[in-house]
Amino acid sequence: MSGVQQPSRFEQDDQIVVMKFGGTSVEDSAAIKRLIQIVTRQQGIQPVVVVSALAGVTDQLLEAGRSASAGHLGSALNSVRNIYVRHEQIADSLLTGSAYAELERALRTDFQALESLLQEVETSRALDSTRQDQLLGFGECFSSRLVTAALCEAGCKAAHVDARSCIITDARHGQAGPLWDVTNRKIQEAVGSLLQAANVPVLGGFIASTADGVPTTLGRGGSDFSAAILAAALGALRIQIWTDVDGVMTTDPKLCSDARVIRKMSFDEAAELAHFGAKVLHPATLAPAMRENIPVHVLNSRNPEGEGTVIVARASRESRGVSAITAKRNVAAVEISAPQGVDSALLGKLFAVFDEHSCHVDVMGASLGRVSLLVGSTAALPEIAAKLRDHADVRWENHRALVCLVGENIRRDAEVASRVFATVADLDVRVLCQGASDRTISFLVEESKAQESVQRLHRVFFPNAEPVRDWGGISSAFCQAG
Ligand code: ASP
Ligand code: MG
Repeated sequence: MSGVQQPSRFEQDDQIVVMKFGGTSVEDSAAIKRLIQIVTRQQGIQPVVVVSALAGVTDQLLEAGRSASAGHLGSALNSVRNIYVRHEQIADSLLTGSAYAELERALRTDFQALESLLQEVETSRALDSTRQDQLLGFGECFSSRLVTAALCEAGCKAAHVDARSCIITDARHGQAGPLWDVTNRKIQEAVGSLLQAANVPVLGGFIASTADGVPTTLGRGGSDFSAAILAAALGALRIQIWTDVDGVMTTDPKLCSDARVIRKMSFDEAAELAHFGAKVLHPATLAPAMRENIPVHVLNSRNPEGEGTVIVARASRESRGVSAITAKRNVAAVEISAPQGVDSALLGKLFAVFDEHSCHVDVMGASLGRVSLLVGSTAALPEIAAKLRDHADVRWENHRALVCLVGENIRRDAEVASRVFATVADLDVRVLCQGASDRTISFLVEESKAQESVQRLHRVFFPNAEPVRDWGGISSAFCQAG
């Protein structure tokens, strides 16, 4: 391949770095060329590469499966042919001679298997979860083979490892959980031996299998989880999550153009951000990294020189103060008053009724005869209110937004809270939320005031913010995307 510099050598006793590339970081030949540069430029470490399916492919496979199960085999086959052509064209532009022919042969075999699977789905008119896992896994099988071949072509000693042979899970199809002992052992055997020989192992994320070899998946977005599983099993130095934004941002750039990259944050802060509506990479998927104290770097493959965000087990002392501001829109505030007082029997009843209606609640506070809750949708509230009529009076206000400030220990710092309220006092702030954690301060405002609240608070807590550069994806996602 032209234009790719001489790859560096990886030594067998260097420390391991697991590098995960999301769908947008492998979406076309330009993206894969960037990946090659990023992998081969690393110095003094041993990379292990984990890739998602090409952007959009998992959704297209799911759609094809649904079409086939509805009896529309023609349209299902048509869309998998488009997926095939897309991979083939990328292979054509990145590979030459026998490397191209070899990959082409492998892809063709896999595509034939995919077509027969769709035929079976059409015949049985059912896409059960076992077949669905088998179907969706093809995306990562294709992308990992393609990336392995492209790395080899660029002179890197890359070796493909089928993740289904080393990540072994239970049979909860669609959301399988690893069987840790056997998984760790198999990873150490399969990946460890390649590293010993100074190879660069390349694996598809998201895919795994049961002990009997039945394909499973780790849940949508599961490639991050694969990276964390591998890193923990191999005792990696760090994980790099390569995506298409510059890192985790102080706020949604769509709400506030001054948003900038957070340099360092804790897993707990990332969890709060996810809970309060930011599209941050989900920290639950990084649990193995957190357990082993492996830092996770969120980096932009379109801007590899950027510092990105590092997520660490414990935030450093100087990371006190506000890290990020989020706004969760479209929430409703529910006030439940019970003249006889709020006791455990009433709370039990409340949660049972909300649960029955699959209405997820966030508790905001409880006082003598009152409970305040937040819900994402008001659809079920009339029925819920009717069911609780004999016990409590249920009222609600919708079109609210929950604005939340996240930062280690911010609740212990009285000054933060007073600055927050001085900043937004005139915006008709309704309720101060009593979450359980010391890491958040949140309040409700009219939805129409959400943006103004975020902008004002950002100015106060992140003064002199230099606007982030726009790298294409940045304005479309608060945090991590592909
Ligand atoms: N390709 C899978 C998905 O779209 C897994 C991932 O990308 O993390 O959910
Ligand atoms: Mg993802």
